[in-house]
Amino acid sequence: MTRTGPLLSVVVPMYNEESVLPLLAARLRPVLDDLAEPYEVVAVDDGSVDGTAAGLAALRASWPQLRVLRLRRNSGHQAALVAGVLRARGRYVVSIDADLQDPPETIVAMLRLARAEGLDVVYGVRADRSTDGTFKRWTAAGYYRLMRRLVGKQVPAQAGDFRLLSRAVVEALRELPERAPVLRLVVPWLGFPSGEVTYQRAERAAGRTKYPLSRMAGLAAESVTSFSAAPLRFATWLGLAGVVVCALLVVVAVVAWFAGATVTGWPSLYMAILFLGAVQLLCLGLLGEYVARIYTAVQGRPAYVVAADSADDAGDRDPVV
Ligand code: UDP
Ligand code: MG
Repeated sequence: MTRTGPLLSVVVPMYNEESVLPLLAARLRPVLDDLAEPYEVVAVDDGSVDGTAAGLAALRASWPQLRVLRLRRNSGHQAALVAGVLRARGRYVVSIDADLQDPPETIVAMLRLARAEGLDVVYGVRADRSTDGTFKRWTAAGYYRLMRRLVGKQVPAQAGDFRLLSRAVVEALRELPERAPVLRLVVPWLGFPSGEVTYQRAERAAGRTKYPLSRMAGLAAESVTSFSAAPLRFATWLGLAGVVVCALLVVVAVVAWFAGATVTGWPSLYMAILFLGAVQLLCLGLLGEYVARIYTAVQGRPAYVVAADSADDAGDRDPVV
């Protein structure tokens, strides 16, 4: 990585985005060209299986600042983002979604704010979530509340992965031993001076969302377990509460036996058994989440493998980051 990179790198993770690619180029390029400063666009092709790779190759012919980083296989939005950010060479690095939900024009405002106030991080904060459905809004609100509890108040609410980082932050991220940090938590956690730019989140320009419910749940689980052992403690408390309830029930049973009451209430018996069984499975699951994290960390397998970086002269090498 050269020290004298361009002023700005724009990192765009994309998975099967052939339909938005022309729209993205048409809107992003004028904004960046108007800056009249050296820049690069790092398109991270996250193992797309449609025409994204061909589309990018065609674009590159007429857009020299476009750099294509191809990952071997689909590694997910977060991993693609990390891949692009860590390889970006700019003094400032902005990450943006490919689907034009984050307006490219806001990049200029972010850059201006960072330079004017000497900030290392500028978060893009959604003015409102009117383009999201009720369910997404509710789950997102819950997610951000939980994250602010776990990581701290410095996590801005309603800030997704549209943000600007300075070179210093990228270097700090590079130092982290985590294989795939959740950037929207790790960046605030690093504690660099930061600011915010609000923007209106648009509808997806074309194509379909790549974030089904299962992936949202995955991100939430990853976020929690990477920042807190509180769920494990929760299991302990649940166990203790169970013991107390059991002790009380034993007392009740003994008293009833001495009072000569007949043995009724087998429903309460099976409810107790079912309840305890469920609690045990839940705690086992929680434990499993953390064991799984330890397992992947110990394996040390990278979160993504770079197949090709158009900035490398060697072409299709296989450097593992
Ligand atoms: N994305 C990716 N890899 C994936 C899934 C998504 O690089 O496995 C990219 C996608 O192309 C887009 C960004 O991540 O640029 C956000 O995804 P999407 O717009 O589908 O998510 P949503 O906005 O619906 O939450
Ligand atoms: Mg989107």
